[in-house]
Amino acid sequence: MVEVVNRVTGTKQAPAGIDELREILTDKGFSRAPDASAASLQRLKGRLVDMNPLVASLPRLELAEASRLVNEQLTELDIAPSIADHDGVGPHIHWTPATARFDDQVAADLLMALAQELCDDGTSRFGVCDAEGCEDIFYDGTRNRSKRFCTDSRCSSRTHTAEHRARMRSTPTRQTRT
Ligand SMILES: [Zn+2]
Ligand SMILES: [Zn+2]
Repeated sequence: MVEVVNRVTGTKQAPAGIDELREILTDKGFSRAPDASAASLQRLKGRLVDMNPLVASLPRLELAEASRLVNEQLTELDIAPSIADHDGVGPHIHWTPATARFDDQVAADLLMALAQELCDDGTSRFGVCDAEGCEDIFYDGTRNRSKRFCTDSRCSSRTHTAEHRARMRSTPTRQTRT
């Protein structure tokens, strides 16, 4: 959920355009994404931008406040859950009616995923990327909560290289005279 919002409103990479957004959503298994109109993707992009302040503040928020903000956004959606099974993906819940606009469907899916994450672990699994110059948020699903970086692989490799260099500098050069 966090990843989709990041890619569209991210702080360091150029924000995803309509085609890229379509690709991300297709990747994430939104079966209506390949045929979604440019207008509905544009609308969705606007909604993701609106969601960004909430996502960006998750690591700092208490559960009660995060829940209040998510609930506030959920009340604006026409949610009518049903179990669906199509395109060989297996049974899953559709939160919006089949007649819902694509952007409403995606917004509902993302918010419900976030709601579930909040119920499971509160806000404790949300963090800010450790890489210099990156403010992106990540969701830490690891058992020992060891995640430090957002999903952009450049953030971890860049930081690890810098840390390695710093270690090399602080290690005194060994005297090899015999
Ligand atoms: Zn479905
Ligand atoms: Zn990052």
